[in-house]
Order: sequence, then C-alpha cells, then structure tokens
Amino acid sequence: METHSNRSIVGRLAPSPTGAQHVGNARTYLLAWLSARSQGGRVILRIEDIDSPRVKPWAVQQAMDDLRWLGLDWDAGPDDALNEVRDICAGREAASVGSYVQTERLSFYRAALDELKRRELVYPCTCTRSDIEAAASAPHVGQEGPVYPGTCRHRQAADAVPLAGQPFAWRFRYQEWSLFPFVPKEYVDLVAGKQRCLPEELGDFVVCKVDGTPAYQLAVVVDDHAMGITEVIRGDDLIASTFRQLALYASLGWTPPQFGHVPLVIGPDGRRLAKRHGDTRLSTLHEAGVPAECLVGYLAWTCGLQSHRNAVRPNDLVGQFAWERLPRSPLTLTERDWQTLLSMSP
Ligand code: GLU
Ligand code: ZN
Repeated sequence: METHSNRSIVGRLAPSPTGAQHVGNARTYLLAWLSARSQGGRVILRIEDIDSPRVKPWAVQQAMDDLRWLGLDWDAGPDDALNEVRDICAGREAASVGSYVQTERLSFYRAALDELKRRELVYPCTCTRSDIEAAASAPHVGQEGPVYPGTCRHRQAADAVPLAGQPFAWRFRYQEWSLFPFVPKEYVDLVAGKQRCLPEELGDFVVCKVDGTPAYQLAVVVDDHAMGITEVIRGDDLIASTFRQLALYASLGWTPPQFGHVPLVIGPDGRRLAKRHGDTRLSTLHEAGVPAECLVGYLAWTCGLQSHRNAVRPNDLVGQFAWERLPRSPLTLTERDWQTLLSMSP
C-alpha cells in the first residue's frame, strides 16, 4: 500500500438515478473507491441524470444515501457546499468544474458539440431506429443495437440548418475518423488487460439525441475531462464505449484517463443483474437492518480481498486492495445468495 497521499489520482463514482442502486452497483463502486483510495487519491461523485425519461427524481438522494451507508465517501460532489473552496485548493478554477450533476452541465456539452461541428466530426442524422434496423447489413449481437449503416454520413454540419423542423440527432463520424492512427484502436485496461476494437463493429454513434440532450458518450467525456478524472472504474459492459470515448478524447485534443472495467454481477440466467432477477436493492438490505459492513465484507470476499465474509468497512480494505486479487469472471448472485445477504447480522 502506498501510504503517501497521491492527490494526482482522481477516481469517480457516477451513479445513474434511473432506479434503485443494487448489489452489483455496490460492488463496482466499492472497487472504484478502493482503487482511488489505495493510491491516496481523491474521489468525485457525479450524478448522471441526463438519461430522461428513465431518471427517477427520488433516485438521486437514494444513491447518495446508499453510498454513505456503504461507507464510501467523496471529496467533491453535488451535496458539497465547499466544492469551490476545494477546487481552488486543488489548484483548479472552481468555475471550470461547475456542477456535479449532469443536467446542470448542459452548456459544457453544448460547447463540446459545437467544437465537434466546427471540426466536421459530427453530422445531422435523421434516421429513425427502424430506418437503421432496416438498413443495417448484419443482425446485431448483444445489448448494443445494430451498427449504424452510414445513411446520413454524406451530410455536413451546416446541413442541419435546412433540416429545421425535421428531427435529427448528431452522430460522430467514428468510422472514418478511426482510420487516423492517433485514434486508439487498442488500450490496456487496468483490470481486463489489453483490449482491441474493430471500428466497423462500433459504427458512427450519437453524441446528441433528437430531443437535443447530449448522449452519454459525450457527457461522460466532457465531465471526466473537466473534473480532472485520472481513472475510470466501471462495469465491463462499457468496454466498447471506451473506444468511442477514446475517439472523442482524441478529437477534442484531451488526454484520456486510465480505464478499468470490472466483471459485472449477473443473475442465474447469465444476464446483468436487474429488476427481473427480483429485489437486490441496497435500500432493502439497509431497511432490513443488515449492517453495511456485512455487505461490504461479503463483496470484498467475492473480490478476493479477504478469505472470509467477515464484516468490514471500506476503509479497512484500503491496505489489502490489489487488482490481481479480483476474479476475472462475472459474479453470479442467486436467490440463495440474496437470502444469505438479507439474513446477515453483526
Ligand atoms: N452512469 C453509468 C452507470 O451507472 C456509469 C457510466 C460510467 O461509469 O462511465 O451505469
Ligand atoms: Zn442517419
């Protein structure tokens, strides 16, 4: 363990308040927090609430309560009246960071989009979902939709003006742009090791939606850059997105953070833990009187950070943390595991 404080490492917790946080989210947050803290780094909390209409207003406070209950803290975040002071102490202009809530950061995303337009790296796309499905050559696999077939790629940014009245999204020219050698087609993941992509399998992607709201890919890059994030730890369902984000970093001339993608928690059917698997909410455990240390101990055990399920606080694990200890396969949570969690007591 590095005992000296390394203020230059900045990690982040980035919950989406689209519903309750569950055991799988907790495991990822714990790992992201431990990675930063074990290097003496800072942790930022950012609320990723631009995904309307899926965002639930109650879920913002709930996510913060869940994180606090788990024992995960942050140095800057939406609740923090001292943000400005801290930013100044960290040698940053407070105004350059702004809010830690995405819906309060729209002007930053707009500025980045304008820059991409100026560089002709985005074009207006009028395709509907069914247009894309009909024109896509190969059936798509997994959760990602079909690869965009390039229908509107001939347009330039200025072509958006005559389209007024017709709804359009802004799409990033990924497939052409990725031909340039400075757009990374591989990177070394902190957790998953060397990753490669085939740009034609990703296709051009949306950076601003039809309703004018920025898409996740753009918002996350603008925010991680503005907030000085040096390492992004998240679920491994986002590895493909990392290549899109690396392309955005390259096109905006920004240095990307390091990325680490952790295996997801899945249900017995092999799919990512979700509502269909029943209740796995952190708030249910909390309300049932399960001590957070018991859940953290259980999760730490599944992460190879301790040999038994002993109750621990995240702080107690900082010295033990090492990525090598984390199993590389997804963690399956069964109904029986959930019952075990529910019955845990001090
Ligand atoms: N807000 C996303 C989520 O909760 C995380 C995105 C990211 O870490 O880049 O799944
Ligand atoms: Zn199109």
